[in-house]
Amino acid sequence: MNRYQKERMLFVAFLALLSLTLNQFGYSYFWIIIPIVLFTMYVAYNAFHLEEQFFLKSIIQGKKGKKGIAITFDDGPNAKITPQILAVLEKHNIKAAFFCVGKNAEESPKMLKSIYDAGHTIGSHSYSHSKWIDFSNKKKWRIEIDKSQDIIESIIGKRPRFFRPPYGVTTPDLAKAITGANLLSIGWNIRSLDTMNNNVLDIVERSTRNLQNGCIVLFHDNLEWSGRVLEEFLVRANKMGLEIVPISDLIDERAYEN
Ligand SMILES: [Zn+2]
Repeated sequence: MNRYQKERMLFVAFLALLSLTLNQFGYSYFWIIIPIVLFTMYVAYNAFHLEEQFFLKSIIQGKKGKKGIAITFDDGPNAKITPQILAVLEKHNIKAAFFCVGKNAEESPKMLKSIYDAGHTIGSHSYSHSKWIDFSNKKKWRIEIDKSQDIIESIIGKRPRFFRPPYGVTTPDLAKAITGANLLSIGWNIRSLDTMNNNVLDIVERSTRNLQNGCIVLFHDNLEWSGRVLEEFLVRANKMGLEIVPISDLIDERAYEN
């Protein structure tokens, strides 16, 4: 049972008790609307914070005691920006993880293959990454997940085990689809917010402020400034004495099904 199921059960019991009490003291049942609204707000908050592990377990940091940090890129492959990222990674001889959108991989299969061939990890980030994706039911989520897995497998010959929820939003339906597909939900504990800001130094400042061994850092490989952010970030991480390691080493999980 996940946190949501447990807390929902407790909440229903609380509502039953509250109704009885309201009735006992001659108050209107109407007022149970207040706890219902508050609980709904609480559930919505948790949907936007996967680190709360509310609907399902997400890995957001390395295994205890592991040295190093992992860097991850979402939303690619991008024909223009991903090569810049790959060049920086190669120059520094480090491995990162790319949570790819199936639709983009379908459009740039060569780009996806180059990421994989360079020794980086490929994870899935849904097929469409559409604006409305979080309203999908379980069946629609499975189509999103399976379609992306099939495309990635047809290009690199491997089926990823790592899935990153689009927008970092989780819902009960997504949780069921991820579990059903035998995937691991991978989050982060350092969010660079590189999509909301194009000031490279601000982004690097933000993403290194609480950086320490075991961290998983979220970047994107589809922004004009992504390459410069990565360069500056690596300089800073190096000064802090932090080594960049493959995500599978940090979390002790294999990256592919086969
Ligand atoms: Zn994304």
